[in-house]
Amino acid sequence: MPENRADRSQRVPRESESGSGFEAMISLWDLDLKLIDSSRQFQDQLGLSSRKGLSLWEAYPALAKPAWAAIIRQVIDTGTSQTIQLPVSKPGRRDFLLSYIETGLLIIETNSAGTTRSLWNEGNERARLIHQATHDVLTGLPNRRQFSAELAQLLPADGDTCGPALMQLDLDDFKPVNDTLGHGAGDILLQLAAERIKGALDHNGTVYRLAGDEFAIIQVGLEEAGEAETLAEALVNEFKKPFTVNGISLFVGVSVGIAIAPRDGNEGEQLMKAADVALYAAKKEGRRRARTFDPSMLIVVEQRELLRRSLRVALQRDEFFIEYQPLVELPSNVAGFEALLRWRHPTLGIIPPAAFIPMAEADGLMSEIGQWMLEEACREALTWPGHYTLAVNLSPAEFLTPGLTDRISQTLDVVGFPAERLELEITEGVLLERTTNNLDTLNTLNVLGIQISLDDFGTEYSSLSYLKNFPFDTIKIDRYFIKDILQDAKSQTIVRSVIGLAHGLDMRVTAEGVETPQQAVWLQHEGCDRLQGFCISPPLPADRLDDFIRQGARLHSAAASDEPRASL
Ligand code: C2E
Ligand code: CA
Ligand code: CA
Repeated sequence: MPENRADRSQRVPRESESGSGFEAMISLWDLDLKLIDSSRQFQDQLGLSSRKGLSLWEAYPALAKPAWAAIIRQVIDTGTSQTIQLPVSKPGRRDFLLSYIETGLLIIETNSAGTTRSLWNEGNERARLIHQATHDVLTGLPNRRQFSAELAQLLPADGDTCGPALMQLDLDDFKPVNDTLGHGAGDILLQLAAERIKGALDHNGTVYRLAGDEFAIIQVGLEEAGEAETLAEALVNEFKKPFTVNGISLFVGVSVGIAIAPRDGNEGEQLMKAADVALYAAKKEGRRRARTFDPSMLIVVEQRELLRRSLRVALQRDEFFIEYQPLVELPSNVAGFEALLRWRHPTLGIIPPAAFIPMAEADGLMSEIGQWMLEEACREALTWPGHYTLAVNLSPAEFLTPGLTDRISQTLDVVGFPAERLELEITEGVLLERTTNNLDTLNTLNVLGIQISLDDFGTEYSSLSYLKNFPFDTIKIDRYFIKDILQDAKSQTIVRSVIGLAHGLDMRVTAEGVETPQQAVWLQHEGCDRLQGFCISPPLPADRLDDFIRQGARLHSAAASDEPRASL
């Protein structure tokens, strides 16, 4: 079993413990020969601040001599240590320069004690520097540098059949926490997550923090690949329990991608890529799960890269279009339409929003696309009869963009679309905390006369406090509760309660994803105000809306076909 590296933090010597009298001139370099950190004496003697990124040749011009540069290269390539005797600087004095590799760092130590011995045992500063360069300050876990160095060491010699396993972990929904509750809360969450991972590992492996909310685990001593999956499943389950940050309960899951050497790669980089691909598959399959690399996953990744590149230019190339799905006020009046974004990719065909919106958000493209969407939908809606409303979705990234309310009111002015006919749909994620900004944004939209709907209700945090504090006009109950409404007593209870809750708070209720007339009848009977779903109509392209609107009067018969129904 490997030693749990995080435990090393307990053994880090404090600087004041170094009592030798020799303070070594020590510097730590990455393998591109850029300075990472250095001892005080190094900084004093060279008259340089320990500027990160300084090159070895700037600090030690003499080492650029071909013969000495070759020695340094050899140290890096072979990992063996080398000693160079420096030119005599003072009579009777002999300076040595020791160079060696430790945890993936090149260490240069100049030693004027007249000996080629490292001062390692006589001063603790080196240990402190190495620890600092290889650990993450926030969580105390070993960092990416240490991870790469240890992974390289642990890769199996030819002939070994199993292990180590490399796992890449990524927290689900970390970004909204950071964006809405602030970096302080984000930091606490990362510390708690690090503790939770360590706890689940229980000396079965070592965990590293690679960056942001990305962690990695190296698991050694596997007898079969299944053991890695068992460990990853245990981790995923641990993350199903909430975290408490500043008194708020947060559900932040974890997705895990697993790669196993030598089967999935026998070089660090290859194994990382495989684990990353598996992680992407885990995310794509709905997150909060673990997936083991399989070569067929590569095709998906290539598509993702292709998509990502073409998404950047999709707006200029006019590849987006909008479909409109009717919202029906019970018993049978069309109240308006929800605009749903579509992307017509030149070679891959029509791509649904769930596939590209997260990508557009991650790449910072969503506010531009959202702006186009709002303007285009308002122009289209101007051609409809004047009493139909237009519902437009706002993703969390758009909602949090500064200047959102100004942009929306300007768009309405430019297009000449009345604010009273616009409904904006937002999801619960953006309202994690009742920040003044969120409240201001919603109140401003309210004052403008725009209606606000809470979309996908019941699927995320479902905190009741924001129902009390935010001025919603409508709650949209997610399809998840509607799909089994006729069979599942629990769904029935939930939907009934949400309807009661909303009405008690003077809000309207829309049921999403209503697919059958029987569901519609049940919902109408329970007092639901509006319906949306394939039972009434799927989303329609703009040029088919006219027909739909003209047939509006006959809607109920189209919707309910010959099934038993109420007055739909
Ligand atoms: P949403 O806002 O919950 O939209 C409803 C989704 O349910 C749509 O999927 C719609 O086609 C689908 N749907 C409607 N009725 C039924 C039904 O009876 N059965 C089933 N199975 N599905 C039904 P779509 O168009 O793929 O959109 C997915 C999500 O993408 C939307 O969920 C919304 O969150 C997001 N989205 C779509 N357009 C935009 C946009 O312009 N901006 C933003 N920010 N998000 C958008
Ligand atoms: Ca919606
Ligand atoms: Ca929805």
